[in-house]
Amino acid sequence: MNFSGKNVLITGASRSIGAEIAKNLAGFGLKVWINYRSNPEIADKLKKEIEDEGGKAALIKFDVRDEEAFLDAFKVIQESDEKLSYLVNNAGITNDKLALRMKTEEFINVIEANLKSAFIGCREALKIMSKQRFGSVVNIASIVGERGNPGQSNYAASKGGMIAMSKSFAYEGAPRNVRFNCITPGFIQTDMTDVLKDEVKESYVKNIPLGRLGEAKEVANAVAFLLSDNSSYITGEVLKVNGGLYM
Ligand code: NAP
Repeated sequence: MNFSGKNVLITGASRSIGAEIAKNLAGFGLKVWINYRSNPEIADKLKKEIEDEGGKAALIKFDVRDEEAFLDAFKVIQESDEKLSYLVNNAGITNDKLALRMKTEEFINVIEANLKSAFIGCREALKIMSKQRFGSVVNIASIVGERGNPGQSNYAASKGGMIAMSKSFAYEGAPRNVRFNCITPGFIQTDMTDVLKDEVKESYVKNIPLGRLGEAKEVANAVAFLLSDNSSYITGEVLKVNGGLYM
């Protein structure tokens, strides 16, 4: 994959899937803008790790729910690099509860963190990328956005919305050579899934045809493909990375 001279902004990239995406893309020669929200030490460690391997990385702190801060981040990148080649909307949260017990506020909070933020990212990226007639955006959705899940009506709505939104952006970006795609990971081993009880994880694994949980690196590989020119005729697509759990 040829990424020379390109850069990428990855949200929520200091740990878990986001960090693997950053390391993988830096390994392909991209300059990676690592967005983090809360832990400068972990973000700094990741930056150093990438630089020690000969990669290029920059840190950019903001909360994706904060529109002004997100817009400022785009400005900082444009002022420093004069372009943005790629964006990965990866930051996301869960706040699980059966719908009957879920407060409206708990529904809205997840939508704000996962969907509103991705909208801001896609819109700003489209503005920049349209002008340069080049760009690719990958949104990290979820298998839950495709098929729903008990206890996750808020998360499912945010990720299902992300899939539909990406397809709409794909139509709007296509005339200017800007592509928008989604990845829908299944059950990936990260901090997000570590909180689940072992018996819950085991019950999931029983239903996964490939017989194991996924690794963050396996999501990162799919991201690299969808950003790269190897997928130049793919837009509005939803790429499942779920071990066959949902086909
Ligand atoms: P994770 O381990 O919980 O990490 C989430 C990352 O997002 C963290 O770096 C976190 O930063 C960041 N983040 C959360 N809210 C943010 C905000 N408001 N502003 C900026 N950053 C924020 O999650 P993960 O498993 O790596 O998941 C990454 C993405 O994949 C998410 O969108 C998730 O929905 C999706 N996904 C994951 C799985 C899975 O099985 N793990 C499956 C399907 C989809 P802090 O360190 O500041 O908290």
